[in-house]
Amino acid sequence: MMLIFLGPPGAGKGTQAKRIEERHGLRQLSTGDMLRAARAAGTKIGLEAKAFMDRGDLVPDRVVIGAVEERIQNPDCARGVIFDGFPRNVAQAEALDAMLARLGKKLDAVIQLKVDDAVLVARQANRVKETLAAGQAVREDDKPEVLEHRLKVYHGQTAPLIAYYQGRGLLRVVDGMAAIDAVTASIEAALRK
Ligand code: ADP
Repeated sequence: MMLIFLGPPGAGKGTQAKRIEERHGLRQLSTGDMLRAARAAGTKIGLEAKAFMDRGDLVPDRVVIGAVEERIQNPDCARGVIFDGFPRNVAQAEALDAMLARLGKKLDAVIQLKVDDAVLVARQANRVKETLAAGQAVREDDKPEVLEHRLKVYHGQTAPLIAYYQGRGLLRVVDGMAAIDAVTASIEAALRK
């Protein structure tokens, strides 16, 4: 099964992807995590990505697309993938379509987690408080000014994918503001449709 989880930063894509991944034997593929790992390892990709990420801008498409194409051919992705945070604009979606066609695979569904901006900002402020209380460092791009910019980038560049996948009959909309278990249940229901 090939799924995309689509939604603004902080919508809970990662949390839900982990749950669905376990239940369905899929592999969660978070481009944000991949980029952070590349940064931590000090690779060329990581160095290139750093400034974009810290500003809350998208990393150049070719960097992300290349990394995804390499990753999905790993044996651990054979049973299926949940794309989390990818694609993030129409160019990436078109590249994904082309890549899957080359590999003889196709998308099964795109799950849109719908959450209001005000809820996201409140959730994020909470997350930052908890992180600080635990004595951990806050991600540069989780600072309020940067989060606001990431939301703008989401609405400007990523939200057009809602229409893109709706037009292909793949979109399933889920209320991301419900409790965590209820959101998981809605995703499961959407996948049975
Ligand atoms: P969130 O889902 O909270 O926005 P992510 O961990 O998915 O955070 O992404 C963090 C940052 O990594 C993004 O703001 C962006 O700079 C970069 N990034 C992640 N995925 C992509 C992508 N598909 N295309 C371009 N940049 C990306």
